[in-house]
Amino acid sequence: MKSIYDFELSELTELMENNGFKKYNATQIFQWLYRQKVSSFDEMTNISVKLRDWLKENYTCEGLETLKLQVSRDGTRKYLFRLHDGSSIESVLMHYDYGDTICVTSQVGCNMGCTFCASGLLKKQRDLTSGEMTLQVLEVQKDVEKMGVRVSHIVVMGTGEPFDNYDNVLAFCRTVNHDLGLGIGARHITISTCGLVNGIRRFADEHVQYNLAISLHAPNNEIRSRIMPVNRRYPIEQLMDALKYYCEKNNRRLSFEYILLKGVNDTDECVSQLIELTKPFDVYVNLIPYNTVDEHGYVSTDYKTAMELYNKLMKNNVRCTLRQKHGEDIDAACGQLRSKYERGKI
Ligand code: SF4
Repeated sequence: MKSIYDFELSELTELMENNGFKKYNATQIFQWLYRQKVSSFDEMTNISVKLRDWLKENYTCEGLETLKLQVSRDGTRKYLFRLHDGSSIESVLMHYDYGDTICVTSQVGCNMGCTFCASGLLKKQRDLTSGEMTLQVLEVQKDVEKMGVRVSHIVVMGTGEPFDNYDNVLAFCRTVNHDLGLGIGARHITISTCGLVNGIRRFADEHVQYNLAISLHAPNNEIRSRIMPVNRRYPIEQLMDALKYYCEKNNRRLSFEYILLKGVNDTDECVSQLIELTKPFDVYVNLIPYNTVDEHGYVSTDYKTAMELYNKLMKNNVRCTLRQKHGEDIDAACGQLRSKYERGKI
């Protein structure tokens, strides 16, 4: 049975009209789901019993089951959720000065094969529906509400490649952004891609206000193809062309994500190449210390080298941050908790 969370407001309105109910019923249902955060149709007390019964017969209103919650000393909260078909996924809530940010998963597993990533240890089983992404935000919000915390930012940066599940990811963004949905500002929502050029071009043509982040992680084809197989299909030149197209169409700032891997992508030459790549763009570079994944054998760049790298970028007028590590004392790397769970290690 389809989940009621998979409907955008416009679709829900159409559904009501096509089935002999009132247009405004859609707004009522939407508000019960996202404002009141109810977990059953029976709690929707201002709609008729007839409509409630019809909804129960045709749709589910099921949330996600929390299998595990790990809370780090720094406040990072990592959730392992179970979906209706028994699959498990992760979501992470991190606290920043500017707000509380949830990292949302878009697929069960991932086929992109980045060699440093824990998520890629388990291949893609399926795409998530838009409702399953929305529910990650809802469940986390319900959990932290009692502490007075509001999830204010979303990054679609968890397991999966968002542009490999394009339609559902964009539908999810519209629902969480909608005033009657979760009301999270478009500029507080970031979609991160490993570089699917067709997806970037399509996204450019949408003219939406969501932010675009690129998981760059290497400044040349030789290293990038080695650590990110997607680069063999879409080399850096093609990626940069697609980004120029996006910027021409949208006049928006980009961000480049750059994981720091000791001796792999943190040399002086790499930094110089990275500076060159940023030149055509209004771009913000996020330098990210690597959270070790036992199976991969990479280690993070040491702090001194990371600071040198950061300083060199700044000196060359590249705006950047050296991110603090989050949740170091829990299974912090993206996909690590799920990977351990699925292999029976926890
Ligand atoms: S880094 Fe992202 S795109 Fe690459 S394998 Fe991991 S989840 Fe997939």
